[in-house]
Amino acid sequence: MKERLEKLMGYIRGLGADYGDIRVKDIAEEAIVLEDGKVKQIWNERSKGFGIRVYAGGSLGFSASNDLTKLEETAKKAYEIAKASQILQAEKTVLAPKPVVTAAYATPVKTDPFTVPLKDKLELLMSCEKIMMAVEGVSKTSSNMSFRKYEVIYCDTDGSYIVQNFCQSGGGISAIAQTETDTQTRSYPDSFRGNYHRAGYEFILEMDLPGHAEEIAKEAVALVNAPDCPSGIFDLVIDSTQMTLQIHESVGHPTELDRVMGYEAAYAGASFVKTENLTEELIYGSPHVTIVADATYPAGLGTFGYDDEGVAAQRTVLIDKGVFKGFTSSRDTAAKAGLTSSGAAIADGWHNLPIVRMTNINIMPGAFTPDELIAGVEDGFLLSVNKSWSIDDKRINFQFACEAAYEIKNGKKTGRIFKNPIYSGITTQFWGSCDGVASEEYWCLRGTPNCGKGQPGQTARVGHGSAPARFRKVKVGVADVK
Ligand SMILES: [Zn+2]
Repeated sequence: MKERLEKLMGYIRGLGADYGDIRVKDIAEEAIVLEDGKVKQIWNERSKGFGIRVYAGGSLGFSASNDLTKLEETAKKAYEIAKASQILQAEKTVLAPKPVVTAAYATPVKTDPFTVPLKDKLELLMSCEKIMMAVEGVSKTSSNMSFRKYEVIYCDTDGSYIVQNFCQSGGGISAIAQTETDTQTRSYPDSFRGNYHRAGYEFILEMDLPGHAEEIAKEAVALVNAPDCPSGIFDLVIDSTQMTLQIHESVGHPTELDRVMGYEAAYAGASFVKTENLTEELIYGSPHVTIVADATYPAGLGTFGYDDEGVAAQRTVLIDKGVFKGFTSSRDTAAKAGLTSSGAAIADGWHNLPIVRMTNINIMPGAFTPDELIAGVEDGFLLSVNKSWSIDDKRINFQFACEAAYEIKNGKKTGRIFKNPIYSGITTQFWGSCDGVASEEYWCLRGTPNCGKGQPGQTARVGHGSAPARFRKVKVGVADVK
């Protein structure tokens, strides 16, 4: 393959292109979904193909194919698209420099999930379903696991050649309780398909799904019979599951440099952050808030050796003790801002262009135990597991709902649970109200396998490291509170 791709790079240079690169991807996926103790779906897919980018005269052309006998033909098409695009060129695209490398990277895997018999996977999920269904009051159950294994071979006209092999494993369980007037769901280890790591089947076993099945089933029943969460201004402790979503929507997306530059506006696509904020100070949060984009942190869904532009994985500080410091970027967006790429350009599959993507967006742990965070709350709630989200297209105003709110009075959890907690805020004010993050012992890495961006739409798999954190005077509920 190396020889063929290097020959192709020679062909692209011969066309008169400024630069060209190729990603050959071979992707295998498996998904298993159970509902109410029955198999709802077993899905397997294999997809192999390549995408070629060619820059000519400062314009980009892209073409992809699943026919590996058509490398030259596809490269020529990309070149012709680049040439044709020059007619509408507003300015020449410049790519930030990067080192030329020959490298290999692989996700560390103990047990290849594709070698685990389907029977074992079904038995594990079925055991969870049985435990949940045995709890009185539970009306529906669901459980799932999915796996993704893929190889990326990257080559460019500068001379880089990189082979990477990735493996992703994850899953989760949910119990639903219904009354005549209400439905409530409780999920473990997270909502929206659970938790995912770049790891082997060992990660499924580490999550101990059966060990949490009874607890979430009981909580679903408790929730459907619980009162609605009161509205008002409250202090909140937000657990690491909901912190994941909070970081993703209100820090991860607004600090993507393509959004900041206005190249990406779909799906609440713009940002209140400006490139000028690299020099003009932007206070994003309190001194407790340090958030990094770290593609080097082990096992995250955003962990790799090199991004899809052949740029090495990095740790970029986005917010340092509350002050905005940097963006996730690609080679073209970085060059425009006078930076080098943060190594965050990823393409979904082989048929898409690389675009700026979150890697692992992690909040750094603080010095508190969760009990200490709770002890500092006179009247408030501990919120757990995301239920829904809404954020404006500049990513300033947000409103998030959680599965459960646990009441805190005078520094202690009272044992009362409330349903439908909703909280809202303004991004910088909210992060500014953070006065404590739990320590490393309570910090964990979660993976989001379904981050949507771009037109045509692309799905990214991104990671978030988080710990429970405390926020002061947050608006809870939808009622008008002063
Ligand atoms: Zn997203």
